[in-house]
Formats: sequence, structure tokens, C-alpha cells
Amino acid sequence: MAYEKPLPRPTSDTAPFWEACRRHELRFQKCLSCGHVRWPASILCPMCYSRETEWILSGGRGRVYTFVVYHHAFHPGFKADLPYVTAVVALEEGPRFLTNIVGCPPEAVRCEMPVEVAWEDLEEGFSLPKFRPVS
Ligand SMILES: [Zn+2]
Repeated sequence: MAYEKPLPRPTSDTAPFWEACRRHELRFQKCLSCGHVRWPASILCPMCYSRETEWILSGGRGRVYTFVVYHHAFHPGFKADLPYVTAVVALEEGPRFLTNIVGCPPEAVRCEMPVEVAWEDLEEGFSLPKFRPVS
């Protein structure tokens, strides 16, 4: 069955992120000038405007910073998933990352809950970084 949700549309800034995801690596840009780890990917550091950057490997662990439980699908592709959790995960490296919490009932999700990355592989060539409770 065809994937019915919107797919990522990599740009020149985000292509390295999505390529790493295919290898099940969560990578973020780290500024070589001030050390700030940023998301979303961009050509300039938002803290010091340096263009010097490296892609670091995240451990894929963090905590739920905030979340919402969707009971209504605003896109037909998400209807079968209802109810589902969209969350901002605060990663140990610093970035706050918009994602879904999977692997537990929506009512079990709490702020500050420890989570780890859980890859969803799509036939369309993308691997999506979602998060599940740390077991
Ligand atoms: Zn910087």
C-alpha cells in the first residue's frame, strides 16, 4: 500500500540529515565556532552566525519536552493512526525535535518521560526518526 502521509522534502541544508537517517543515524549540525548544536539544519549558526559546522552523531536519547494527542486527522493519511502523539523531544545534545511518540498508549505519555529514537522505515526511501519510551 502506498504511503499516504506527506514525505520529507530534503533541501541542500537538510539532505545530510535525511541521508544519515537512512543509515539509522540521528545527526545534527554542531557549530565549530561556539559549539551550539542546532536543529533545523541551516547554513549559519543561529547563535554566532558562523558557517563552520560539523555533523555530529546523536545518541538518540532525550526527554519529552511537550506533547499533544491528536484525535482528529487534519490530513487523511493520518486517519488510521488516531489517536496519535506529536511531541517535542529535548535531545541530550540540545536540539528540541518535533516527532511522534510510538510504542506506548497515548495516555501513558508524560512530560520529562525518557525516550529513545525508534526508526520507521518507508519503502519510499526515507527512515523517520520517531521516539519510544526507554525500556
Ligand atoms: Zn555558533
